[in-house]
Amino acid sequence: MHILVVEDERILCETIARSLKRLAYSVDCCYDGITAMQMLADDNFDLVVLDLNLPDADGMTVLRTLRKTDRDTKVLILSARSEVSDKVDGLDAGANDYLAKPFHLEELAARIRSLTLRQFTQNDVVLTCGDVSFDTKSRKAIVGDEPLPLTRKETGILEYLMVNRGRPISQEEFIEHVWDNSVDNFSNSIRVHISALRKKLRTSLGYDPIRNRIGEGYVMGEEE
Ligand code: CA
Repeated sequence: MHILVVEDERILCETIARSLKRLAYSVDCCYDGITAMQMLADDNFDLVVLDLNLPDADGMTVLRTLRKTDRDTKVLILSARSEVSDKVDGLDAGANDYLAKPFHLEELAARIRSLTLRQFTQNDVVLTCGDVSFDTKSRKAIVGDEPLPLTRKETGILEYLMVNRGRPISQEEFIEHVWDNSVDNFSNSIRVHISALRKKLRTSLGYDPIRNRIGEGYVMGEEE
């Protein structure tokens, strides 16, 4: 899941980003409204954590601009303005959720989990695909009853495959949803992470649950 955090208080922005990266999300930071609109136009994010009081262009402007062309990206407004009217305005303009400052990072993570899962058919906290489970709350993969230790990238890849089970995912789509802008977007490195993930799954399961459909991408949980 690729998340953009728009917040001009840099320390808060980086604290949020760090805590989400620890949960194996890919996260980019942005500190003003104009840059946020550019990044949203250029990149494909699954979710935006959006502060309302921003320099250059405020959060409501960013939200309205995004919603002119994009209804899919989830928007969670973060604001010190706790008046009901601000909340209503935000939701009316197409935000999916609203969190008043100050907040606990755990609550932010819970809201993000619920928003990112809502767009898919599986609403469960634990995603399952054959003998593999992914607990979206603890952000851990489980094979049988045993936890399967994965790197951040491997975790992101597995989660993305599992929420999209049955649908092939191309390398380009992985780049958009599992990688953030701080790393090289070379397809080679994606192949390396996918092959490391497949190796761990194969060792632990005795078979490889990920299939490579030539010309389409990688898929998990497709019908045999
Ligand atoms: Ca602010």
